Amino acid sequence: MATEALAGEATHVRHGIRSGIPMVVAIHSTYLGRSLGGCRMWRYGELEDAIRDAERLSHAMTLKAAAAGLPLGGGKSVIALPQGESLEGERRDAALRDFADLLNEIDGRYVTAEDVGVSEADMAFLSQHTPFVVGRPAELGGSGDPSPFTAMGVEIAIRTALGGSLAGRAITVAGLGNVGGSLAERLSRAGARLTVTDINPARRSLADRLGATWVEPGEAIAVPGDVFAPCALGGVLDEASVDLLQVPVVAGAANNQLAHDGVARLLHDRGILWAPDFIANAGGLINVAAELDGYDRERVIRDVEAIAGTLRTVFDRARAEDTTTLDAAHALVTERLAARS
Ligand code: NAD
Repeated sequence: MATEALAGEATHVRHGIRSGIPMVVAIHSTYLGRSLGGCRMWRYGELEDAIRDAERLSHAMTLKAAAAGLPLGGGKSVIALPQGESLEGERRDAALRDFADLLNEIDGRYVTAEDVGVSEADMAFLSQHTPFVVGRPAELGGSGDPSPFTAMGVEIAIRTALGGSLAGRAITVAGLGNVGGSLAERLSRAGARLTVTDINPARRSLADRLGATWVEPGEAIAVPGDVFAPCALGGVLDEASVDLLQVPVVAGAANNQLAHDGVARLLHDRGILWAPDFIANAGGLINVAAELDGYDRERVIRDVEAIAGTLRTVFDRARAEDTTTLDAAHALVTERLAARS
């Protein structure tokens, strides 16, 4: 089955009865199993933008789970923050209670976890009101924050794309949040020469601690070196930004890095090796998914390390067929979906 045949099973949109906050759960597919994917708390101009984001992200989760060999479908959720307002204290609790009601109504076809703007503490709170949550703290029997495992997988993806040691390699990390910060620390320990950026100037202290060069967010894409690692939000690679890249490899944590699928061809034509995001950043999903059938840390690490083999298959296939790494990754996913039927 091709992934296009899975057009998106259901999109649930609610305005929380306690909070009035709009929230979306997009279930792209339960073809391989129940859908699993993080909850994003973010600001959107219109509700339509939040729905589109959730649906696009849920599609990526179908690809991610299938490529990682997990018996899971793709889903994702969004809690749309009011403009100019952060969600703290009682108001955050009310929104999370509303979100838990929605998860209970969906009755397990979607299981949530952390994503941008949502923390392990939020998962702990949610788990008091719904069973359909992973990424809970260890003291609640959970696997904790998935970000370090995502960062581990991205480091593996970078090593695989470079084909060797990170020592002395010039790597730019754009976005120093949970994943990007952890990735920067790992790369620094491995001896890479780092350039970093974030829209949050407070993250500069991490750059100082690691001895990394700090650039403004708009400059990061054009820094010459070996690797550009996008670790903020999606859509960072488009016609204009691909032209600016001065690296042979792009591999990072951000979901939906390509503004549209055609950007994979632009990268290919420029001779830039792109590690498909839904393969490179699967470490966090692999970690939280393990919570569903008895968490085993050693097995999780082995499965995250397997990202190297999956990526090598994709790179080899793209080279042999002179196609894009996105096409090669889609072909791999299609085969894994077909193997189920
Ligand atoms: P986060 O919110 O902790 O970090 C995002 C960081 O990016 C923040 O520090 C933010 O200030 C910064 N940022 C936002 N826009 C920016 C810009 N234009 N330029 C530079 N910095 C910018 O989120 P996270 O959990 O680290 O996730 C980062 C990305 O990785 C997201 O796209 C997320 O969907 C994806 N991802 C995360 C995980 C995970 O385990 N957390 C797993 C898979 C994929």
